[in-house]
Amino acid sequence: MAETLPVGCACGAITGEARELSPRTALHFVCYCVDCRCFALHLGVGERVLDEGGGTDLFPMAPARLHLEGKAHLRAIQLSPKGPFRWYAACCRTPVGNGMASADLPFISVLRTFVRADDAAVEAALGPPRGLNGSGATGPTLPGTEAGTGPGLLLKTALRLAGMRVRGLHRPTPFFDVDGNPIAPPELLSREARNALRARARRS
Ligand SMILES: [Zn+2]
Ligand SMILES: [Zn+2]
Repeated sequence: MAETLPVGCACGAITGEARELSPRTALHFVCYCVDCRCFALHLGVGERVLDEGGGTDLFPMAPARLHLEGKAHLRAIQLSPKGPFRWYAACCRTPVGNGMASADLPFISVLRTFVRADDAAVEAALGPPRGLNGSGATGPTLPGTEAGTGPGLLLKTALRLAGMRVRGLHRPTPFFDVDGNPIAPPELLSREARNALRARARRS
């Protein structure tokens, strides 16, 4: 059965819904990689986002199924020139999701922090999270966390995304305009800023 989760930033300037989720097909992760942690630390919201192992709870979904009001508040950063666009709400620095640098890739990993529902509702829609990139953790991880991303899972994700693209679920996207340009140009962190952030993220 398809589920809908209410989403939005902490201050309420951005609201919306993540639609047509199903625990049978959803992907739901806690990612312990350093760069996900960098994102939360850069926004100054580590205590709201990160679990005791420094992990970020998120779920990849089709952008066309994420409906948002208040998009004028969306901004993005890039940790490196080829890195994902990491979207957040500029009004209250709530992280929103990690997406690709192109409108043609049907993929946004929405952060749990952007969901306005309790854990029971999140689990009903997405199933329990699986730990990934455990080698980057700074503390205890979920049971069964994989050290990396795992080739099987990468393949599964790639196939899922290809399927979404075939079904046209990459458009419309809240993050790009009709010409395929990001709705706000992402801020690329300097090499110095990135290195300082990664050093902090490895310690925290
Ligand atoms: Zn806000
Ligand atoms: Zn990550």
